[in-house]
Amino acid sequence: MNMSKNCLPTPSFILDALELKTCIESFGKSLLHKFHKVVVGYSVKTNSLPYCLTVAKNHGCFAEVVSYHEYALALKVGFPVSHIIYNGPLKSEESFLEAIMSGAIVNIETWRELKWLRKLPLNGRYKVGIRLNVDISAVSPADENHENDDSRFGFSAESGDFEKALLLLKELPNVTLAGLHTHRTSKTRSLDFYRHTLEYAQSIIKQYGLSLEYLDLGGGYFGPMPNKPTFEDYADVFQRTLCDQLKNLTIIVEPGNALVASAFDYISEVIDVKYHNHQYYVTTDATRNDIDPFFHKEDYFKTIQHLSPSTIVHDRQIVSGSTCLEYDRLFTVDKGEELLQEGDRIIYHRVGAYTLALTPLFIHYFPKIYVKHADGTFELIREEWSENEFIQKSKY
Ligand SMILES: *Cc1c(COP(=O)(O)O)cnc(C)c1O
Repeated sequence: MNMSKNCLPTPSFILDALELKTCIESFGKSLLHKFHKVVVGYSVKTNSLPYCLTVAKNHGCFAEVVSYHEYALALKVGFPVSHIIYNGPLKSEESFLEAIMSGAIVNIETWRELKWLRKLPLNGRYKVGIRLNVDISAVSPADENHENDDSRFGFSAESGDFEKALLLLKELPNVTLAGLHTHRTSKTRSLDFYRHTLEYAQSIIKQYGLSLEYLDLGGGYFGPMPNKPTFEDYADVFQRTLCDQLKNLTIIVEPGNALVASAFDYISEVIDVKYHNHQYYVTTDATRNDIDPFFHKEDYFKTIQHLSPSTIVHDRQIVSGSTCLEYDRLFTVDKGEELLQEGDRIIYHRVGAYTLALTPLFIHYFPKIYVKHADGTFELIREEWSENEFIQKSKY
């Protein structure tokens, strides 16, 4: 389809395929400048749009999955099992064992997984990783989001759980511990946070005399943003922090936000403007459910396109979504700005992470998604969901 963004129907998401590819490749290249063996795992939960998974696969990413559904999705879009990183507590026994036997990178998260390992054939040789609990307040206090920025995930070295898990692994003659996994998304995404987490991981590796093949440093990085750490900066910190012995391990990262946030726009149109309480209520066909499903953003990277010249108004404009939720309000335009009018467009930028993967089917079903190809043309890659998709598998 050859049309400009201004003609695309609203509301819809637009994936900039070139931006996604650039982010993937530059993270991989930055790591390869510093290490011999690297893996970039695309965090599927951050944006599980099948088209994105294919782009990630075609540009060398592994799929980082955190449930048996995501595991099945990664297989469905064509990732070989050996290019899957299987994390999180929501594994099924069947997929867990299959993944290990087929050479996936599997990081143990729960005690039940340690029990399931006993079902692996005794005549085989298998590798697993284990997730280490990281308490940001303890490991890197300057990066904490709040007091006691603890984690529900991973086995804690402090409590003794980690050692207990190691002992259970040692009982299994056919299983080797090949990797250590750390992952936290810190509030600051700072270089210091990774330096401290790596120092902590290294101290644990030394304390328990672990002989590993990989170090999986998880996600939580900034994508391309002015005045923020770059992929090169993160790779540089990894290299400077790791001791020589550990520099030879395979370095795995699992970026979500850093790869997809900047690759998506969301376009919307003003459908109505009302006035009362000394302010304008601008209704658009967007919904906050699409681009801020956690309802904690206060503003967005955005562009406003006026259809025709408008008047300056001396009252605020409350720009809202289309649902009947009173709190479906997106942002406020200050006094003294041009009044929005029916047909004006608002384009939200950098909305690819934790947005469309979290959209509820509330009032308005999933919106259309287009991809913008490198040559500037647009192609519909997901139809808008209708009542037919909504009703599937339901009795009525
Ligand atoms: C969510 C998640 C990621 C991705 O985190 P970002 O902050 O989006 O980079 C990576 N690894 C694991 C285990 C996760 O749960």
